[in-house]
Amino acid sequence: MSTESDVKAPVRVCNGCGKENYSASYSPNCAEKKLIDSMGICFDCAFWEVRAKLTHETVIDHYLYGVGDQPKGGKYNGMGGRRFDIEYFDGRVVTTYDLWAGGEIPERFRGRIPDTARFSGGASRGKAGDITCWDASTDQKP
Ligand SMILES: [Zn+2]
Repeated sequence: MSTESDVKAPVRVCNGCGKENYSASYSPNCAEKKLIDSMGICFDCAFWEVRAKLTHETVIDHYLYGVGDQPKGGKYNGMGGRRFDIEYFDGRVVTTYDLWAGGEIPERFRGRIPDTARFSGGASRGKAGDITCWDASTDQKP
């Protein structure tokens, strides 16, 4: 005789990373949810699948960034309003006081989301345990 507690839900395994029993409960209108259902992948894989289909301006050392438009001293600047100098591979050099971190690109997506730039002026990304942190560029005299 079988009771309800004997019935086990099938193990859902992500077709992207192999994660087991990932959640598929997301808003039906979100782009990731559509991929979760159609590709049988977890949210993390769907998140990067969505981004791999887009063109990204600022990817430095396998990390996605957004350069905001707030001026130095703005109230809600990314990275606490610290200075970041960025040298794009197309030759542009940008100094921003409004840099936003978009996440470390998983290894399996790096071929589809290539680096576009590098930090300069002493800026860098590092890790302290599990925490990702950044050193800002130092103000330089021209
Ligand atoms: Zn996955």
